[in-house]
Amino acid sequence: MPTSFFRGNIQKACKALKGAENINHYRSLNSYLREIYGEKIYKLALDGGFTCPTRDGKLDTRGCIFCSGGSGDFAVPVGDNVNEAIEAAKGIVAEKGGRKFIAYFQSFSGTYAPIERLRALYSEIIEHLDIVALSIGTRPDCLPGEVISLLADLNRIKPVWVELGLQTIHESTAEYIRRGYPLAVFDDALRRLQAAGIMVIVHMILGLPGETPDMMVETARYIGRSGAEGIKFQLLHVLEGTDLAADYRNGLFQVLSLEEYIRVLEQCIEVIPADMVIHRLTGDGAKRNLIAPLWSADKKHVLNEINRAFDRDQVMQGRKA
Ligand code: SF4
Repeated sequence: MPTSFFRGNIQKACKALKGAENINHYRSLNSYLREIYGEKIYKLALDGGFTCPTRDGKLDTRGCIFCSGGSGDFAVPVGDNVNEAIEAAKGIVAEKGGRKFIAYFQSFSGTYAPIERLRALYSEIIEHLDIVALSIGTRPDCLPGEVISLLADLNRIKPVWVELGLQTIHESTAEYIRRGYPLAVFDDALRRLQAAGIMVIVHMILGLPGETPDMMVETARYIGRSGAEGIKFQLLHVLEGTDLAADYRNGLFQVLSLEEYIRVLEQCIEVIPADMVIHRLTGDGAKRNLIAPLWSADKKHVLNEINRAFDRDQVMQGRKA
């Protein structure tokens, strides 16, 4: 047999092995969804027209210090016609060829509205045949008992996920970012969601002003031990028009370099349980108003660098949990 035959096969085997290594470093959302549904599932980003208590004056009017408006830049507004919004959101992911979808409400606080409005909206959406799950981003202080029991009812029809924007366990940082609730509120909401059988995903931000890598790892460890099923890692973005941008321009803090981000991300991944689903390794910054860190605008490059570092450092989720 010609040497080129062996060389070709060895190259293929190496590529396959490299791919397998990437998969084994951590439990990704994609692999979790494939385990459950046997195919790729796409998210439909929808905007239910919500607000949140740190914006509407209930707690504050300024919003969280880093927030430029609810992180739903690409979401399709859902007006009176839910069907139309779902079809429009499908159109956005159409070229990827998905057949099954998760209806995802990321903008503002998706449980901060009158219960009748929430019931009407979510009940209609969850009945769509090609929607396999409903994912709602919200704050732990926007989950009164009647909302949790609505979510539990919906969860009996199809899986409901609740994404909680914790960001940090450190109260001094929480105060600086104007999160508006103490850690105990998160603990309580998580306990009540778990008692209702609802899957919880917790968001944390790496690189918040004043936080050392050890503090960030402490937050990841806390989330890992909380019993939540999933975690989303997000890099702190400094966005135009936010109060955070003013502090950044005044030199009050520095943002993470790509190398620093990857180093602390690796540490965080190793302290969370091996079966926790990692929904995101970094964020999708809105490029048009991104001030820093500018390296984060090239997401493909960032993910390549993360995967390269995971291979190099033999990162293994849960190794230090
Ligand atoms: S980050 Fe979330 S909770 Fe904070 S102001 Fe923005 S939408 Fe509201």
